Amino acid sequence: MNDLNQAYQNFFTSTKGKRKGKPVKPPKFKSRKSRQTARFRKGGFKVGQHKVYLAKIGKLKIIWSRELPSEPSSVTVIKDSANRYFLSFVVEISPEVLPKNDNSVGIDLGIKTFATLSNGEKVDAPKPLKKRIKKYRKLSKSLSNKTKGSKRYEKSRLRVAKFHGKLKDTRTDFLHKLSTEIINENQVIVLEDLNVSGMVRNRKLSRAISDLGWRQFRTLLQGKAEKYSRDFRVISRWEPTSQVCSNCGFKGGKLDLHVREWECLNCGAKHDRDENAAINILVAGGQSETLNGRGGKRKTTAKAAAANETSTHRGA
Ligand SMILES: [Zn+2]
Repeated sequence: MNDLNQAYQNFFTSTKGKRKGKPVKPPKFKSRKSRQTARFRKGGFKVGQHKVYLAKIGKLKIIWSRELPSEPSSVTVIKDSANRYFLSFVVEISPEVLPKNDNSVGIDLGIKTFATLSNGEKVDAPKPLKKRIKKYRKLSKSLSNKTKGSKRYEKSRLRVAKFHGKLKDTRTDFLHKLSTEIINENQVIVLEDLNVSGMVRNRKLSRAISDLGWRQFRTLLQGKAEKYSRDFRVISRWEPTSQVCSNCGFKGGKLDLHVREWECLNCGAKHDRDENAAINILVAGGQSETLNGRGGKRKTTAKAAAANETSTHRGA
């Protein structure tokens, strides 16, 4: 509600000529069908054990996804397009401590194998859409046959939105588990900066990539590294990580995407393409700066789902 007030204030001072810079447009309302959010500051909400009270809305029954570590300073209510409600709390936390270790890891993200670690470990991503592509086609065909704005259209739209919600949950679950594992096991984590938006412009790759969630994975790693005082580094995507022999440093030139294994012309080392890249990412990370400072208080968000008939978002 505060955000809306500010938006109107900006608009009015702008029309009166009191505001410098570009004229400000009146606030726009989001389509009711898209994701909607509302923020409540201190005094505007109260947290109980099974219920949260929100000013002007009332009490909501909630399902906690995890415990709040301390008193929250604000809460955002999010309604997604599948009519599911989520509450996101802002809380101050002191960094938690994980035992320090001497492990470092470089991570190569790919399409065929989601992540290849510099220790040779390969992790495949779940492909929820691939498994359910028939259902997806059926749902979207059914939606396109309905008249926009009709009751049946709305019902069908909700079904499609719920389907997407489930795919997203499967992906998020996987990314959470993998990032936690990597943060637990390593002190230094190096990732290659990915030009995701540039790659998504390539239509052939676009669906596969947005299905993978590279960006979300990076965000999760960074957040957990901050929380547990790990050293998270990102190297430039211009580093020739897949072209250089990790054994002798010889530059072999660009490899076609289909070449999965190669032999160094200089030292004869045999390489798995992704593992070699992951090792080079780790080495390049040694020369780059850490992305997160250590210690101190920082903000994090804890999420909880508000209970209504469609809110169970786990376990797709
Ligand atoms: Zn070599």
